[in-house]
Amino acid sequence: MKKTFPFSCPVCARITEYPLSDLVEGARLNCSFCKCSIRLHGHMLAYVQKEIEKATGPNPAAGAEAD
Ligand SMILES: [Zn+2]
Repeated sequence: MKKTFPFSCPVCARITEYPLSDLVEGARLNCSFCKCSIRLHGHMLAYVQKEIEKATGPNPAAGAEAD
């Protein structure tokens, strides 16, 4: 199962799930509700990364997750 992150649109405040691999610096997130496109950077990127870290780590299942 692919891990996703619920990102709430700053324009319409509705939540779209994005795969974690899409949430990198400079990523374009297209809201599926209001169709606005958000560029992920700066404080928003920092926020998202912090939330992902909270959701995924520290990894309780022995982390053999090499790249
Ligand atoms: Zn939206």
